[in-house]
Amino acid sequence: MKITIVGTGYVGLVSGASFAEMGAEVTCVDIDRTKIENLCNGLIPIYEPGLDDLVAKNVAAGRLRFTTSLRDNLDGVEMVFTAVGTPPKTDGGADLRYVEQVAREVGEYMTGYLVFVTKSTVPVGTWRKVKEIIADQLDRRGAKIGFDVASNPEFLKEGAAIKDFMSPDRVVVGVESTRARELMEKLYKPFLLNNFRVIFMDVSSAEMTKYAANAMLATRISFMNDIANLCELVGADVEMVRRGIGSDNRIGMKFLYPGVGYGGSCFPKDVRALASTAREYGYRMRVIEAVEEVNNALKSVLFNKIAQELGNVRGRTVAVWGLAFKPETDDIREAPALVLVEQLLEAGAEVTVYDPVAMNEVRKQLGERVAYACDMYAAAQGADALCVVTEWKEFRLPDWDALKAAMRGHVIFDGRNIYDREELASYGFIHHRIGRSS
Ligand code: NAD
Repeated sequence: MKITIVGTGYVGLVSGASFAEMGAEVTCVDIDRTKIENLCNGLIPIYEPGLDDLVAKNVAAGRLRFTTSLRDNLDGVEMVFTAVGTPPKTDGGADLRYVEQVAREVGEYMTGYLVFVTKSTVPVGTWRKVKEIIADQLDRRGAKIGFDVASNPEFLKEGAAIKDFMSPDRVVVGVESTRARELMEKLYKPFLLNNFRVIFMDVSSAEMTKYAANAMLATRISFMNDIANLCELVGADVEMVRRGIGSDNRIGMKFLYPGVGYGGSCFPKDVRALASTAREYGYRMRVIEAVEEVNNALKSVLFNKIAQELGNVRGRTVAVWGLAFKPETDDIREAPALVLVEQLLEAGAEVTVYDPVAMNEVRKQLGERVAYACDMYAAAQGADALCVVTEWKEFRLPDWDALKAAMRGHVIFDGRNIYDREELASYGFIHHRIGRSS
């Protein structure tokens, strides 16, 4: 099968490499020339475990190529996937200009029947707009070419993207025609040979499924953080409560961790976009609005704890471990750590940061306003306090003696509840956690 994927970011690159691995002939397109040049030279623009090998292998096999030209890569293509960004607009709605741009170009240059598949996360009803745009472009040039539109929202998690893509829990596909359905079936068959879990539905429901999934997961996180806040006030231990409710199989353990709030490129924008779609239809999604409200308040939780413990932080040195919005990725979009760093800088603190893979991305955003350490102990050198914001594995078992010797003060703000209170106390550290007494 010959397919073109437009947008070579986290989703486009992982999808392209994975489809190629299953034997499809894939062209990945991006307007970012540097990104494409780097990819052509074997340089992967993002950190994602296993991605470099997968890309190299499929490029070498001649099944995966990279280009900046969409128009030259539509001939003989059965499916065009759009995996371009859909960032938030100032009113919270999704900015669809990149998706629309791709649809326009496809309508302008397509030479035969194809399915236009939206993999980007887009508000319900976008498929109608996309269909109109393509039909309009075909009309303008008097071309009588058939096409279908489909929705194939992506559920991969950064940090485990290849595994998620290669063996998904399910694949959701919204289609309007049997022809499009058959093509999508053919494409996904190799991924789900033994247990074919492609859920076909109408296109609007597929578009909505993606937002509903992210909103549900974000709701669990905000719910648990609300419980954590109350635990602190009443002297209960949120970790016990988490185990207590998570072991009920109607609830389950996943996405019940309290902490510093959700971030990343999806949950914040998708929760906002869902509420915004509802408002467009004259409806208020009160649960979803509260989910965001709780999350916004959480962005200050560590700063407030630091200010309470240290008093004025002006001139004090604070070390921050973990900057990516979660472990195993270098994605820092809406990362809680960056909000904390900004709050500390604003209050006059000196900040030293360390993350195993996200330092380059952070440097692009924060420049020389913070000090960058080469490892976790170097970050803690001379620090009055240490904050753990992203729970990378290497932070889980520190050498406490080395840490104590490095730091000036001995306070640890554990934004992910990864340390044991008694153990830290035995080394003379004061340990602040989320939803548990200090
Ligand atoms: P990204 O920002 O990493 O990549 C988007 C790419 O699209 C960029 O490289 C950009 O240069 C390119 N682009 C923009 N306009 C273009 C055009 N007209 N032609 C060609 N390329 C163009 O974004 P991402 O994180 O991969 O997300 C893409 C979409 O998938 C979003 O809608 C997102 O919500 C959704 N999604 C993301 C994830 C995730 O974990 N990142 C998971 C599921 C769904």
